[in-house]
Amino acid sequence: MHEVEAYIGLGSNLSDPQVQVSSAMQELNSIPETNVLKVSSLYISKPMGPSDQPDYVNAVAKISTNLSPERLLVELQGIEQSHRRQRNGQRWGPRTLDLDIILFGDIQMDSKTLQIPHYGVTEREFVLIPLQELQADLIIPGKGEVEELIAELPSYELSRIENING
Ligand code: ATP
Ligand code: MG
Ligand code: MG
Repeated sequence: MHEVEAYIGLGSNLSDPQVQVSSAMQELNSIPETNVLKVSSLYISKPMGPSDQPDYVNAVAKISTNLSPERLLVELQGIEQSHRRQRNGQRWGPRTLDLDIILFGDIQMDSKTLQIPHYGVTEREFVLIPLQELQADLIIPGKGEVEELIAELPSYELSRIENING
């Protein structure tokens, strides 16, 4: 596998979500043959699905990797496990950490375990806004320009967490 740039979506709404997401960003560097190139700000979003759960903290990281998408997914799931993510069968239920592959180079694939680009990217402001922050002219294979997709969102409620440097 040659080196590819990929974007990873991070989300958490349990057990100090800001710390979960910030530490996971660092841990992406410990994945073999993978380096974090850039990380977005952290954002707060309202939960999808069940609304009786805390707000989410979301972010996107840009990485370079020599792994295949399948190997990368296994590594990401390992990091989710190390954050004690529990799967209780409830779709979009609360979680300590979710790591999704949003884009993987210009690959488009739809297998049993992987859909790339991530199927939710066009509707999810908590993915599109951080993507735009990382690369304003990004094009999502098969879906269009990030800026266009943001312009097409019906409305959104997302707030950026200001860090100490503003
Ligand atoms: P959503 O996928 O709607 O964001 P979720 O992230 O909560 O929901 P998970 O429980 O984390 O869903 O993952 C369910 C399955 O989704 C995984 O086992 C994985 O095989 C599959 N999957 C498909 N495409 C992707 C992708 N691009 N990134 C991560 N997982 C994916
Ligand atoms: Mg997800
Ligand atoms: Mg997931």
